[in-house]
Amino acid sequence: MIINIKLGEKMIDTKDKVLHSLEEYDIKPSYQRMQVLEYLMSDDSHPTADVIYKNIHSKSPVISKATVYNTLNLFVKKGLISTMMTDKLEARYDIVTSDHGHFVCKKCGRVYNFEYEQKNKCKYMNLDGFDIENEEIVLKGICKDCKTVD
Ligand SMILES: [Zn+2]
Ligand SMILES: [Zn+2]
Repeated sequence: MIINIKLGEKMIDTKDKVLHSLEEYDIKPSYQRMQVLEYLMSDDSHPTADVIYKNIHSKSPVISKATVYNTLNLFVKKGLISTMMTDKLEARYDIVTSDHGHFVCKKCGRVYNFEYEQKNKCKYMNLDGFDIENEEIVLKGICKDCKTVD
């Protein structure tokens, strides 16, 4: 089941959507889980667990780092969110679970989503006998925002 959030679209009725998503993925809604999911829905920059923790913590200091990490792991396990790795090998969390590519900016570190066509047209060599479970397209370079700063 793909979560119904269009790339870059602003959220309306976030609370409803948060509750609905948790329910849909069979996750018991607790206050902390709602906070984590609400944050993920508001930040499409593919934040790290640390960034997610710091942002939520600044608004409600009672939340612990362990709670945030455990919640993220649970969301990933249930398929509610996805993860990707950057060069620094830190997991970045992504509210979008449908197929999409990532553009990693080498300057600001932001990860952008993009859609693409011609999926699976790529031919892989030397992988006879391997089961490919998912295909990730990751492009690297300098994003538009960073280019205009120069
Ligand atoms: Zn950038
Ligand atoms: Zn993404």
